[in-house]
Amino acid sequence: MKNNLALKKTSVGKSLGREMVYSPAPEDSSHIKINKRYDLFIGGKNVRTKKYFKTINPSNEKVLAEVSYADGKDVERAVSSARKAYDKYWKNLPARERGKYIFRIARILQEKAREFSIIESMDGGKPIRESRLVDVPLAIAHFFYYAGWADKLHFAFPGLKPEPIGVAGQIIPWNFPLLMAAWKIAPALACGNTVVIKSAETTPLTLYKLAEVIQEAGLPDGVVNIISGDGKTGSSLVNSPGVDKIAFTGSTEVGKIIMRSIAGTNKRLTLELGGKAANIIFEDAPLDAAVEGIINGIYFNQGHVCCAGSRLLVQESIMEHVIRKLKFRMKNLRVGDPLDKNTDIGAINSSEQLKRITELVESGVTEGAEIYQPNCTLPAKGYWFKPTFFTNVSQSNRIANEEIFGPVLSILTFRTPTEAVEKANNTFYGLSAGVWTDKGSKSFNILNKLKAGVIWANTFNKFNPASPFGGYKESGFGREGGKHGLEAYLNV
Ligand code: NAD
Ligand code: MN
Repeated sequence: MKNNLALKKTSVGKSLGREMVYSPAPEDSSHIKINKRYDLFIGGKNVRTKKYFKTINPSNEKVLAEVSYADGKDVERAVSSARKAYDKYWKNLPARERGKYIFRIARILQEKAREFSIIESMDGGKPIRESRLVDVPLAIAHFFYYAGWADKLHFAFPGLKPEPIGVAGQIIPWNFPLLMAAWKIAPALACGNTVVIKSAETTPLTLYKLAEVIQEAGLPDGVVNIISGDGKTGSSLVNSPGVDKIAFTGSTEVGKIIMRSIAGTNKRLTLELGGKAANIIFEDAPLDAAVEGIINGIYFNQGHVCCAGSRLLVQESIMEHVIRKLKFRMKNLRVGDPLDKNTDIGAINSSEQLKRITELVESGVTEGAEIYQPNCTLPAKGYWFKPTFFTNVSQSNRIANEEIFGPVLSILTFRTPTEAVEKANNTFYGLSAGVWTDKGSKSFNILNKLKAGVIWANTFNKFNPASPFGGYKESGFGREGGKHGLEAYLNV
């Protein structure tokens, strides 16, 4: 099908039978200011480094900017700046004052929401519709939410004396850069800690934009330090003797390395790792809503989502019906320019990620699963992958077990609720899950038996700063968000 029509400049809203033709609806990015070069943000100043690396726009492979590469010495400089700020002002500041700074960050971010959305989509490849409606507003909501907690910590832990931990080292992945930064920075500051945060290799820009917001908010120098680099930079931060707590979001593989390297130290640790979530559809589910939930569960942010509903479990009696509806819905997904407001699926974040996805999908085909992709044209430049699903998947296939972190769904069936639970829990991971049924009692029964940190009923991928998020098993430990998220940044 010619469904990648956002890219067809000639056709104007014409209807081709059932298939719609869309005119381009690009978000204007002409007013966006991206510097040629971004230095580290340490002690309230821009600090140059010896080495720089490029960040590109994955939808067209154009270089957006050069950013600082922080080596071990640079990391130490950031950590000691955070220490100084902690000892000098932040730990002694009345909680109410801390709250005011966080509120200020939230409000300035709100004013610049549009700019942040556009840059997030350019640097990472995600559709502007998502960065504008999800990433940026949710990031702002997190700052507002934790601003409110700053002077109420004693209510969160009645009868106890919650104290800040000190300097928090925070490491984030590339799939939700600003949002992950907000999840980490907001509670850390509210609880009275100072921060060194490292962005991911391919998406450093919105964090450096956030540095500008932090300056504008007048936060005392060194309370938040923002650095960029690769795994080595992250490792220096983890191993820095000046860090009291590590908060990591990323792969299970790196999570294990971090855990090993801080074993035997006094450092506190939270890990938010990978997932392979089951999305369970019962025969009594509201099917149109469930199909939307399947789409949102796996194709949101190109499937670069740790809690993606990447394992669909469909009750056998409705399998054919669900597949038919799903195929029909997928024909209408528009893949293309992330800055087009009609785009549903943007660019894959990097060539490395595209390689990983391609390799796993090939393994699915080789192992005998049946692949479906709608017939759409992908742009010539940039990194792209068609929305994909597999049927005839067996429990032992790699695509049923490994996290693909791309727009690829594995579909399995079940007959009874017991079998659904067994299959859903048959994974090393335990981050999220979804249950679709018309019966409340059934849904409560099932969700009590699922071993996952976050479970959605008749919806998927819904987030709120007041609800805790985190995993079981190899998906990590510790909770971010809500009152639970405070505990990770306090000695109680
Ligand atoms: P990654 O683990 O390779 O990288 C994540 C971050 O860790 C990056 O900033 C990277 O530079 C840094 N890093 C790499 N090696 C390091 C080391 N040895 N020591 C310290 N830091 C190091 O993961 P990725 O490929 O960037 O991201 C994808 C993974 O992240 C997926 O597995 C996904 O499930 C997971 N993820 C989890 C969540 C969650 O909340 N649970 C959210 C987003 C992504
Ligand atoms: Mn980039």
